[in-house]
Amino acid sequence: MIVLPEEVKTALDRLNASGFEAYAVGGCVRDSLLSLPVRDYDISTSALPEETKAVFSDCRLVETGIRHGTVTVWLGESPLEITSYRVDGLYSDGRRPDSVSFTRSLREDAARRDFTVNAMYYAPKEGLIDPFGGQEDLNKRIIRAVGEPIKRFHEDGLRILRALRFSSVYGFAIESETESALRESKELLQSISAERLQAELLKLLGGKDVRRVLTSYADVLAVFLPELLPLHGFDQKNKYHIHDVLTHTAVVVENVENKPSLLLAALFHDIGKPACFSVDKKGFGHFYGHAEASVAIAEKLLDRLKISGAVRQEVLTLIRCHDIRFPAQRKTVKKWMAKLTPALFFDLIKLKKGDLLGQSPAYIGEMAELNRMEELASDVLAKQECLSLSSLAINGSDLLSLGFSQGKEVGSTLNQLLERVLDGSLPNEKDDLLREAESLRRR
Ligand code: ATP
Ligand code: MG
Repeated sequence: MIVLPEEVKTALDRLNASGFEAYAVGGCVRDSLLSLPVRDYDISTSALPEETKAVFSDCRLVETGIRHGTVTVWLGESPLEITSYRVDGLYSDGRRPDSVSFTRSLREDAARRDFTVNAMYYAPKEGLIDPFGGQEDLNKRIIRAVGEPIKRFHEDGLRILRALRFSSVYGFAIESETESALRESKELLQSISAERLQAELLKLLGGKDVRRVLTSYADVLAVFLPELLPLHGFDQKNKYHIHDVLTHTAVVVENVENKPSLLLAALFHDIGKPACFSVDKKGFGHFYGHAEASVAIAEKLLDRLKISGAVRQEVLTLIRCHDIRFPAQRKTVKKWMAKLTPALFFDLIKLKKGDLLGQSPAYIGEMAELNRMEELASDVLAKQECLSLSSLAINGSDLLSLGFSQGKEVGSTLNQLLERVLDGSLPNEKDDLLREAESLRRR
């Protein structure tokens, strides 16, 4: 059953009233038919962009991609993207079609769409319009290219990664002809822009069937992530591990929260392992220093994918710390929360839990420790315990009044006091802190 929001129905009605065809299209139709929540409703219309603008001339309106036929209109709270029926030209730069031409034919518009399940249209009056059998493929749970797969992948190589993304997110198999074409054309991914790859990769990694997709299509992903290849089939010769490094990685990705920093940290956390492998006299495998080695590789990968700013930093810190072991003690947990920030500490524990789930079930008992760390950390937050200089009960001016000299002396004393508050050997009370500061100074 497809239920359109009022503002979408209004938009369709207004376009119809001016003599144009108009439908909800793509992801919203697909997800409605799958009874999944719909994020945004896209509208497709036979009106040309200028005609769409005229129909909504009394509304807030932005020419989002007028060259590509998209006008964004506000009829309520959320924006609606209204795109004219169009036929795409080539994507020679791997970013956007070089040219688009508009058409009055729904079928032509449907034919430019990537997969049958994405090429369905719906309007309350007309019902479902499904020129390429998308509904049947939804029922069969398969991803099938619209038209000739090879040709479609050559028009836009990103579709190769999109097929994997939809396969991962919905747990659908890729139809066999589409699949062979995709493997045959995988090198096309080399010329796709980092921004487009990144967006699809993150959706793929957050999919419920990511484990299958990462392990079955590693060769395809390796076109733009070649560092994944050495993980494939890499036998760890280690009692903690029952999987090769790639499968282990895939299980970790599957078991972390769907959030860019955690997904990427999971994907790259062991990417340095093959380079660090050694076997001891007993025949056991070791990966000394692999976390740092993974950080070094991940830095390059993140740069290549143009992942910058806070997410990049978080990913690298998570990878660097993923294999550090510490006890589930309040003072240790607080030290790590202070070092990482509480939010990143919780993410580190999530990564560690995922990592554990990817290992031999013989060690699953360690999960209790990780749960305990989370409980402790939540309790520290609930009690609003001091974790940083800003919540220490004294500050720099207090120390200056005691006669400390400005600068280094103040800074280092405050840090020493914070450390003692964190390890529980000193209460976060002004009097106690001042007394301790005095005695530190005398020493
Ligand atoms: P999501 O739930 O991620 O928004 P979606 O199907 O809406 O999924 P979008 O990337 O928003 O995906 O694209 C909207 C629609 O545009 C798709 O359903 C598809 O019909 C079409 N489309 C998007 N990208 C391509 C592409 N590279 N080639 C062909 N058609 C595409
Ligand atoms: Mg969409």
